[in-house]
Amino acid sequence: MTANSAMPTSVPKMLDAIVIGGGFGGLGAALTLAERGQKVCLVERLEYLGGCAGTFTRKGLRYEAGATLAAGLAPGQLFSRWIAHHQLQVAVEPLDPVVEVRGPGVRFAVPASREALVALLQQRNPEKAREIEKFFDLQRHVADALWAVLDDPALLPPLTLSSLARHSLRVPHYLPLLRWIGQPLQAVLAHCGVVSVADLTLMCDTACQITVQCRASEAEAPIALATLDYWFRGAAHVVGGIGALASQLGRAIEQSGGEVRMGQPAVGIERCAAGWQVRLRRETLQAPLLFANLLPDAVAMLLGDSDELRGPLVRLEKKLKDSWTTCVLYLQLRPPVGCGDGAHHLDLTSDPKDLTMGRHVFLSVSSAADAKAPEGLRTAILSTHVPIQAWLKAAPQEQAALVDQVYAQMLQTLADQAPEWRAAVVSYLTGSPRTWQRFTGRPAGKVGGVPRRAGLHNYLDLGPCRLASGLYLVGDTVFPGQSALATALGGQRAATHALG
Ligand SMILES: Cc1cc2nc3c(=O)[nH]c(=O)nc-3n(C[C@H](O)[C@H](O)[C@H](O)COP(=O)(O)OP(=O)(O)OC[C@H]3O[C@@H](n4cnc5c(N)ncnc54)[C@H](O)[C@@H]3O)c2cc1C
Repeated sequence: MTANSAMPTSVPKMLDAIVIGGGFGGLGAALTLAERGQKVCLVERLEYLGGCAGTFTRKGLRYEAGATLAAGLAPGQLFSRWIAHHQLQVAVEPLDPVVEVRGPGVRFAVPASREALVALLQQRNPEKAREIEKFFDLQRHVADALWAVLDDPALLPPLTLSSLARHSLRVPHYLPLLRWIGQPLQAVLAHCGVVSVADLTLMCDTACQITVQCRASEAEAPIALATLDYWFRGAAHVVGGIGALASQLGRAIEQSGGEVRMGQPAVGIERCAAGWQVRLRRETLQAPLLFANLLPDAVAMLLGDSDELRGPLVRLEKKLKDSWTTCVLYLQLRPPVGCGDGAHHLDLTSDPKDLTMGRHVFLSVSSAADAKAPEGLRTAILSTHVPIQAWLKAAPQEQAALVDQVYAQMLQTLADQAPEWRAAVVSYLTGSPRTWQRFTGRPAGKVGGVPRRAGLHNYLDLGPCRLASGLYLVGDTVFPGQSALATALGGQRAATHALG
């Protein structure tokens, strides 16, 4: 790997902090820095903000790039606090039901409240009513304990005397989760006696796959139980696409005195007397603080071969060894009669034994207000997980065949599980791992961060990721990650840590 050697011409611009990348991780960091009076500049290589959770326009139609479901918009949560504080123009439509789960023999819509979901599952599986209640009681306890920590990042490592004191008061809340540390979610399902409840096991499996990036049989139980709360914590559709939230956060950064530069890729990073130097194509920025909203390999490329950070970056990248890339179809469709004007989310599985390569897809249909489209036309995104090793091991000519096979399977799963939506498709654009690499700058098109497979290692990297003095990594490779909300929270946490 080599650093790009483009030579900027001007005198370096001095700042307090530089953020490379305007994904939600970079936005969270930059906004926190600007709010704290720092002279911060965020540089983004694309012409729009949001990265994997951005919204782009093609031929007059607006599409979500990747993320579609937004959390953190309920009163008091991070995004709603920022929206209120900075008076941002973000319109949200609460989702209820949040998502419809469909698979062989399974079809139900997940309501936005845990109580309603429990009642629904009990109604569908009366012989397991008590067991279902037991599972969700445990899920609630664990989620309440862990979300309280995520909602208050001062409770995350590195711990201070005051945060330790606050944790000690919370010990009773942590007790229900202690026995499950290092165990897979499947062990909790077995303990509660719900393994035979197909509705619940499929829902847990697919929810784990899209949140903690592995199945219930692999997922670290406390983290998986907490992320199941995603459905119940104000999951919403952002009108105009989730990128509208990203662009409003960019506005908040500017209103708070920061600078946001779009269409300006960083092409090199070096140490300098001031701390860190970031080379753009025509300018150089310098600052004591640098936040890289990038994958470890991308940081290594910007640093060049010789940097002593190579070791830590290789170690971080190794955690992504068995992670994912994705194939996406960006659909134009004429929605089925009677589907309503709101956004729709469908979690569709044709083979519960294998949730990859198009056999499990997530379909998100825009709301009628979003699409900027001719009357009656809507856009949608259909995505699936592709194991990164399957992609990397394929030779270039095999990669083309592999993605074609995945697209065909995705459309087949859509036809099997949601024929009314398959019949609605007018045309589509494709998004391969290569497309993801080109647009988001994520090497090999890796998405989704580090799968949270069961093990104690999950609790060793809870703190902000400081690679070197003044240099932080933010984004979904770094825990807490793997969603727009979590990466924003992680960015906020890293910036707060850096400022002391
Ligand atoms: C298909 C799919 C569906 C998803 N669905 C959901 C969902 O419904 N809800 C949810 O919350 N999450 C979802 N996620 C996860 C979520 O989108 C990501 O975890 C999150 O957006 C990642 O943010 P990030 O800040 O880590 O990185 P990114 O979004 O990758 O942002 C990095 C940014 O850095 C920029 N960049 C890269 N290189 C440079 C450079 N050299 N110079 C300047 N800029 C650079 C990129 O253009 C990009 O904007 C989904 C992800 C995928 C792939």
